[in-house]
Amino acid sequence: MNQPHAVDLLTGAERRLGAGIEGLEETVLDRPDRLASIRAGELASIHSWELVTAVDGPGTRLTVFFSGCPLRCLYCHNPDTMVMRDGQDISLDELVKRIRRYRSVFRASGGGITLSGGEVLMQPAFAANLLHAAHEMGVHTAIDTSGFLGRHVSDQMLEGIDLVLLDVKSGDEDTYKTVTGRDLQPTIEFGDRLAEAGTEIWVRFVLVPGLTDDPANIEKVADIASRWSTVSRVEVLPFHQMGQDKWENLGLAYQLKDTPPPTNEQVEAAREVFRARGITTY
Ligand code: SF4
Repeated sequence: MNQPHAVDLLTGAERRLGAGIEGLEETVLDRPDRLASIRAGELASIHSWELVTAVDGPGTRLTVFFSGCPLRCLYCHNPDTMVMRDGQDISLDELVKRIRRYRSVFRASGGGITLSGGEVLMQPAFAANLLHAAHEMGVHTAIDTSGFLGRHVSDQMLEGIDLVLLDVKSGDEDTYKTVTGRDLQPTIEFGDRLAEAGTEIWVRFVLVPGLTDDPANIEKVADIASRWSTVSRVEVLPFHQMGQDKWENLGLAYQLKDTPPPTNEQVEAAREVFRARGITTY
């Protein structure tokens, strides 16, 4: 496989989202009906969607960005996805229709759908229904997640997932907490479960100078990636400053104002740590 262009490696967390729900019809329900639909997994709070190639999984992907996230990553490039109520209500039918429309594109490109965010596992009933519907159409499915809410994935839901893009934001527990405000352990447990189930994993790690680039930390991320037998690639993603204005517009304190992106040499050196363990790394 060709090595994707660096820009193509920007993940949901690192890519700047802008297109919104354009082309999707928002559902407006009164409060009891809305809550019942959410509970049934027929309605979700969605930030945006886009059609992308060579990002978020193989082939051309329809990526759906869910609103709401339990983490508060210091480098989040889309802090406008963090709060669930800031999204727009989109029905399952509306997204299933959109997937159906692109079926031939997915088939021709070896692509499919990717559910990202925010954190897709904050709305697991809807995600499970959408993944199941895609599978029924023969469409490849992926989720992009931090794994923090991996316990929300039922065994049945797991059967509907072909690939997990699992963000390992740090290998060191204290650094993980500094970066995300949460604990690393749930991600490790989720990865263990995926490996046991035979589910393919792409590990993603964002290299942030002064935050995640300590050699001991990179080794620990590599230790974690190595323990999962179903990891087929690692992507080391260079930190960028593209989300700064969003933090400011939301009135949130952005702590990485003075952090530079890593040099190409630093990124390559980090990738070598994974390659030295025999893992295909981009
Ligand atoms: S996990 Fe949440 S806070 Fe962290 S980068 Fe992704 S969307 Fe942003």
